Amino acid sequence: MKQVWLPSVSYNLWSLSDSRVGQEFWFCDMKRGFNKVRQKEPQVKALLEDNKHQRIGKLAQGGVYEFYQNPQLLSQSEGVEEVAAILKLNQEPEEVQERIIVILNNYYKKPILVGKEIIQLSKGDEGFTSPITIQEGSYYFHLYAPTDCTFKQPDGTIHILDFKTGKSDFDRRQAYVYLLAASYLYPQQPSVASFYNLEAVLASDIITATPEQLKFVQIELADIAKRYELEKMHYGENPNDFAKIFPPNPGSACRYCTFNSICEFSVSEVSR
Ligand code: SF4
Repeated sequence: MKQVWLPSVSYNLWSLSDSRVGQEFWFCDMKRGFNKVRQKEPQVKALLEDNKHQRIGKLAQGGVYEFYQNPQLLSQSEGVEEVAAILKLNQEPEEVQERIIVILNNYYKKPILVGKEIIQLSKGDEGFTSPITIQEGSYYFHLYAPTDCTFKQPDGTIHILDFKTGKSDFDRRQAYVYLLAASYLYPQQPSVASFYNLEAVLASDIITATPEQLKFVQIELADIAKRYELEKMHYGENPNDFAKIFPPNPGSACRYCTFNSICEFSVSEVSR
């Protein structure tokens, strides 16, 4: 059935729309502009596609998936090499290969999904998933909350597990988006969320949310979806106002910004 168009929102849009408390210096509205309204421009597209961090995340997820699908590999001495071959790791840049081998070895030594009642496990290459339609007051929007792994705990609690790689820290807002999605997908069961860094072998606390907290998250997401629709409309009408609609925040954030090579406001060269 054809999906009805509705404004949409995701954790990604939330993270690009609001700064985390105390990390305002990292935040830049213009990144949202590049990511969301200029993503089809060839230069921007190329930068978005050449994202090593995302590539490592997808391959790491693929590795976990293959170990789960072929559990006998966990008891074979060549298990890591076999998964690396399935992932065609030899076709990746050297740094990506090295980091994925570390991740596969970590998982091989500590296969955290063994024995879990898995409900869903992403292969890492699914693309867009179906959204959840949410009504907030008279406003309808689509929530996209693709999950890495969902399993059922022995007591029936739904546990959403998000895999991380690299130095990315755990953002509780992402957990709240998962928990809001779970409240629609599994309304009869309690749910929790957590993060697990496959590279650092580090698990977060278990995160829960009360119905009041989820309502707050839902209102916040509806606001973000509305704001973004307005921005898109303004940009469509006046592309020359890009920097007014998505104000830059030149500074420390530029150094690690995906767009610093094409952003006229970047100060990354100066700060080196
Ligand atoms: S280079 Fe700096 S100013 Fe430009 S989008 Fe990135 S963080 Fe913002």
